[in-house]
Amino acid sequence: MKQSFYDLNYSDLEMVISQNDLNHSAASVLFNWHYKKKEPAQCVDKIAKLSLAFFENKFDFSLPEIDTVHESKEDRTVKFLFKLKDQHKVETVLIPFHNKYSICLSSQVGCAMNCSFCFTGKQGLKRNLTTSEIVGQFLQAWRWLAKNRPGEERILNIVFMGQGEPLHNFDAVKKACEIFLSKHGTSIGVQKITISTAGYIPGLKRWSEEIPGVNLALSLHSPFEEKRNELIPINKKYPLDEVLETIDKIPLNKKQFITYEYILIKDFNDSPDDAEKLGTILAGKSAYINLIPFNSFPGSHYKRPDLDKIEKFKEILDTFKIPTLIRTAKGDDVLAACGQLNSKS
Ligand code: SAH
Repeated sequence: MKQSFYDLNYSDLEMVISQNDLNHSAASVLFNWHYKKKEPAQCVDKIAKLSLAFFENKFDFSLPEIDTVHESKEDRTVKFLFKLKDQHKVETVLIPFHNKYSICLSSQVGCAMNCSFCFTGKQGLKRNLTTSEIVGQFLQAWRWLAKNRPGEERILNIVFMGQGEPLHNFDAVKKACEIFLSKHGTSIGVQKITISTAGYIPGLKRWSEEIPGVNLALSLHSPFEEKRNELIPINKKYPLDEVLETIDKIPLNKKQFITYEYILIKDFNDSPDDAEKLGTILAGKSAYINLIPFNSFPGSHYKRPDLDKIEKFKEILDTFKIPTLIRTAKGDDVLAACGQLNSKS
């Protein structure tokens, strides 16, 4: 089977070119052509025929196939179900804000973390996605926008908050980030990419050296180890205090902070005590808290707290002077919100 062109970062591409004695200018032309154009245009005149023939013979340029598209009637969120070569399916979500979009990418088919509140975890881990399958979600969604919502094809933020634990598929996610960041490629700003983790310490340890500048979000969900064990089973192996210690060692630049995500579940982790303890452990850190009222899915037994309880929780955090945002669910009507992704149409 041919290797996918979209598995190559810029230096891999330069290496292929030099090893095969092709004209070195082909690297930037090819990257520009594939990552900066909204449509797969023909660009034959700018590249030597020899180089073009070489790549067409040796590499696969196909992208994940769009299986179904669900457009939210409420808020223009778009959920894509992609079919991969081996028939596995993954989901990607475009989240609108002011006629621009954030894209929520999947990093694995299913997930091994088995968090009790997450729909994706219920399928278990099927396999890791390749770099090209990650980059491919972005390219296909972008092209879909160019075609279906012309003038709106701007994807300004990338969040790895779809299916899977991105730090459990570190190498492929890292390479996808390198392609997104490359000035020859999509040229997304380093502050515009966020990787969200359940607290997978082996990945966090590689983080600071290998993915500098990209933002990190931790799914915290409870400041109490016992409760967190119940929500996020890997907490038993990588407990929260060790996770926080590891994150504290990651050097941040001046404007950077870590996002701490906190799902609010009715009568489970939404009491004033929970908020006090959360505030206590995060006070003084370069932190930003995202409160995510639980999104239900078929078969889930958790519930979302009432709005006044959510607001009370935030008020307590405010006393710790930690910037806190209550995240409103988008795409709820098409099961595209956090934790609702499950590879089914
Ligand atoms: N594995 C990564 C990224 C995927 S989940 C992680 O754990 O961070 C992205 C975010 O959605 C996480 O904060 C996750 O905890 C949250 N989430 C999962 N299921 C949810 C649900 N049912 N309701 C609200 N948020 C959910």
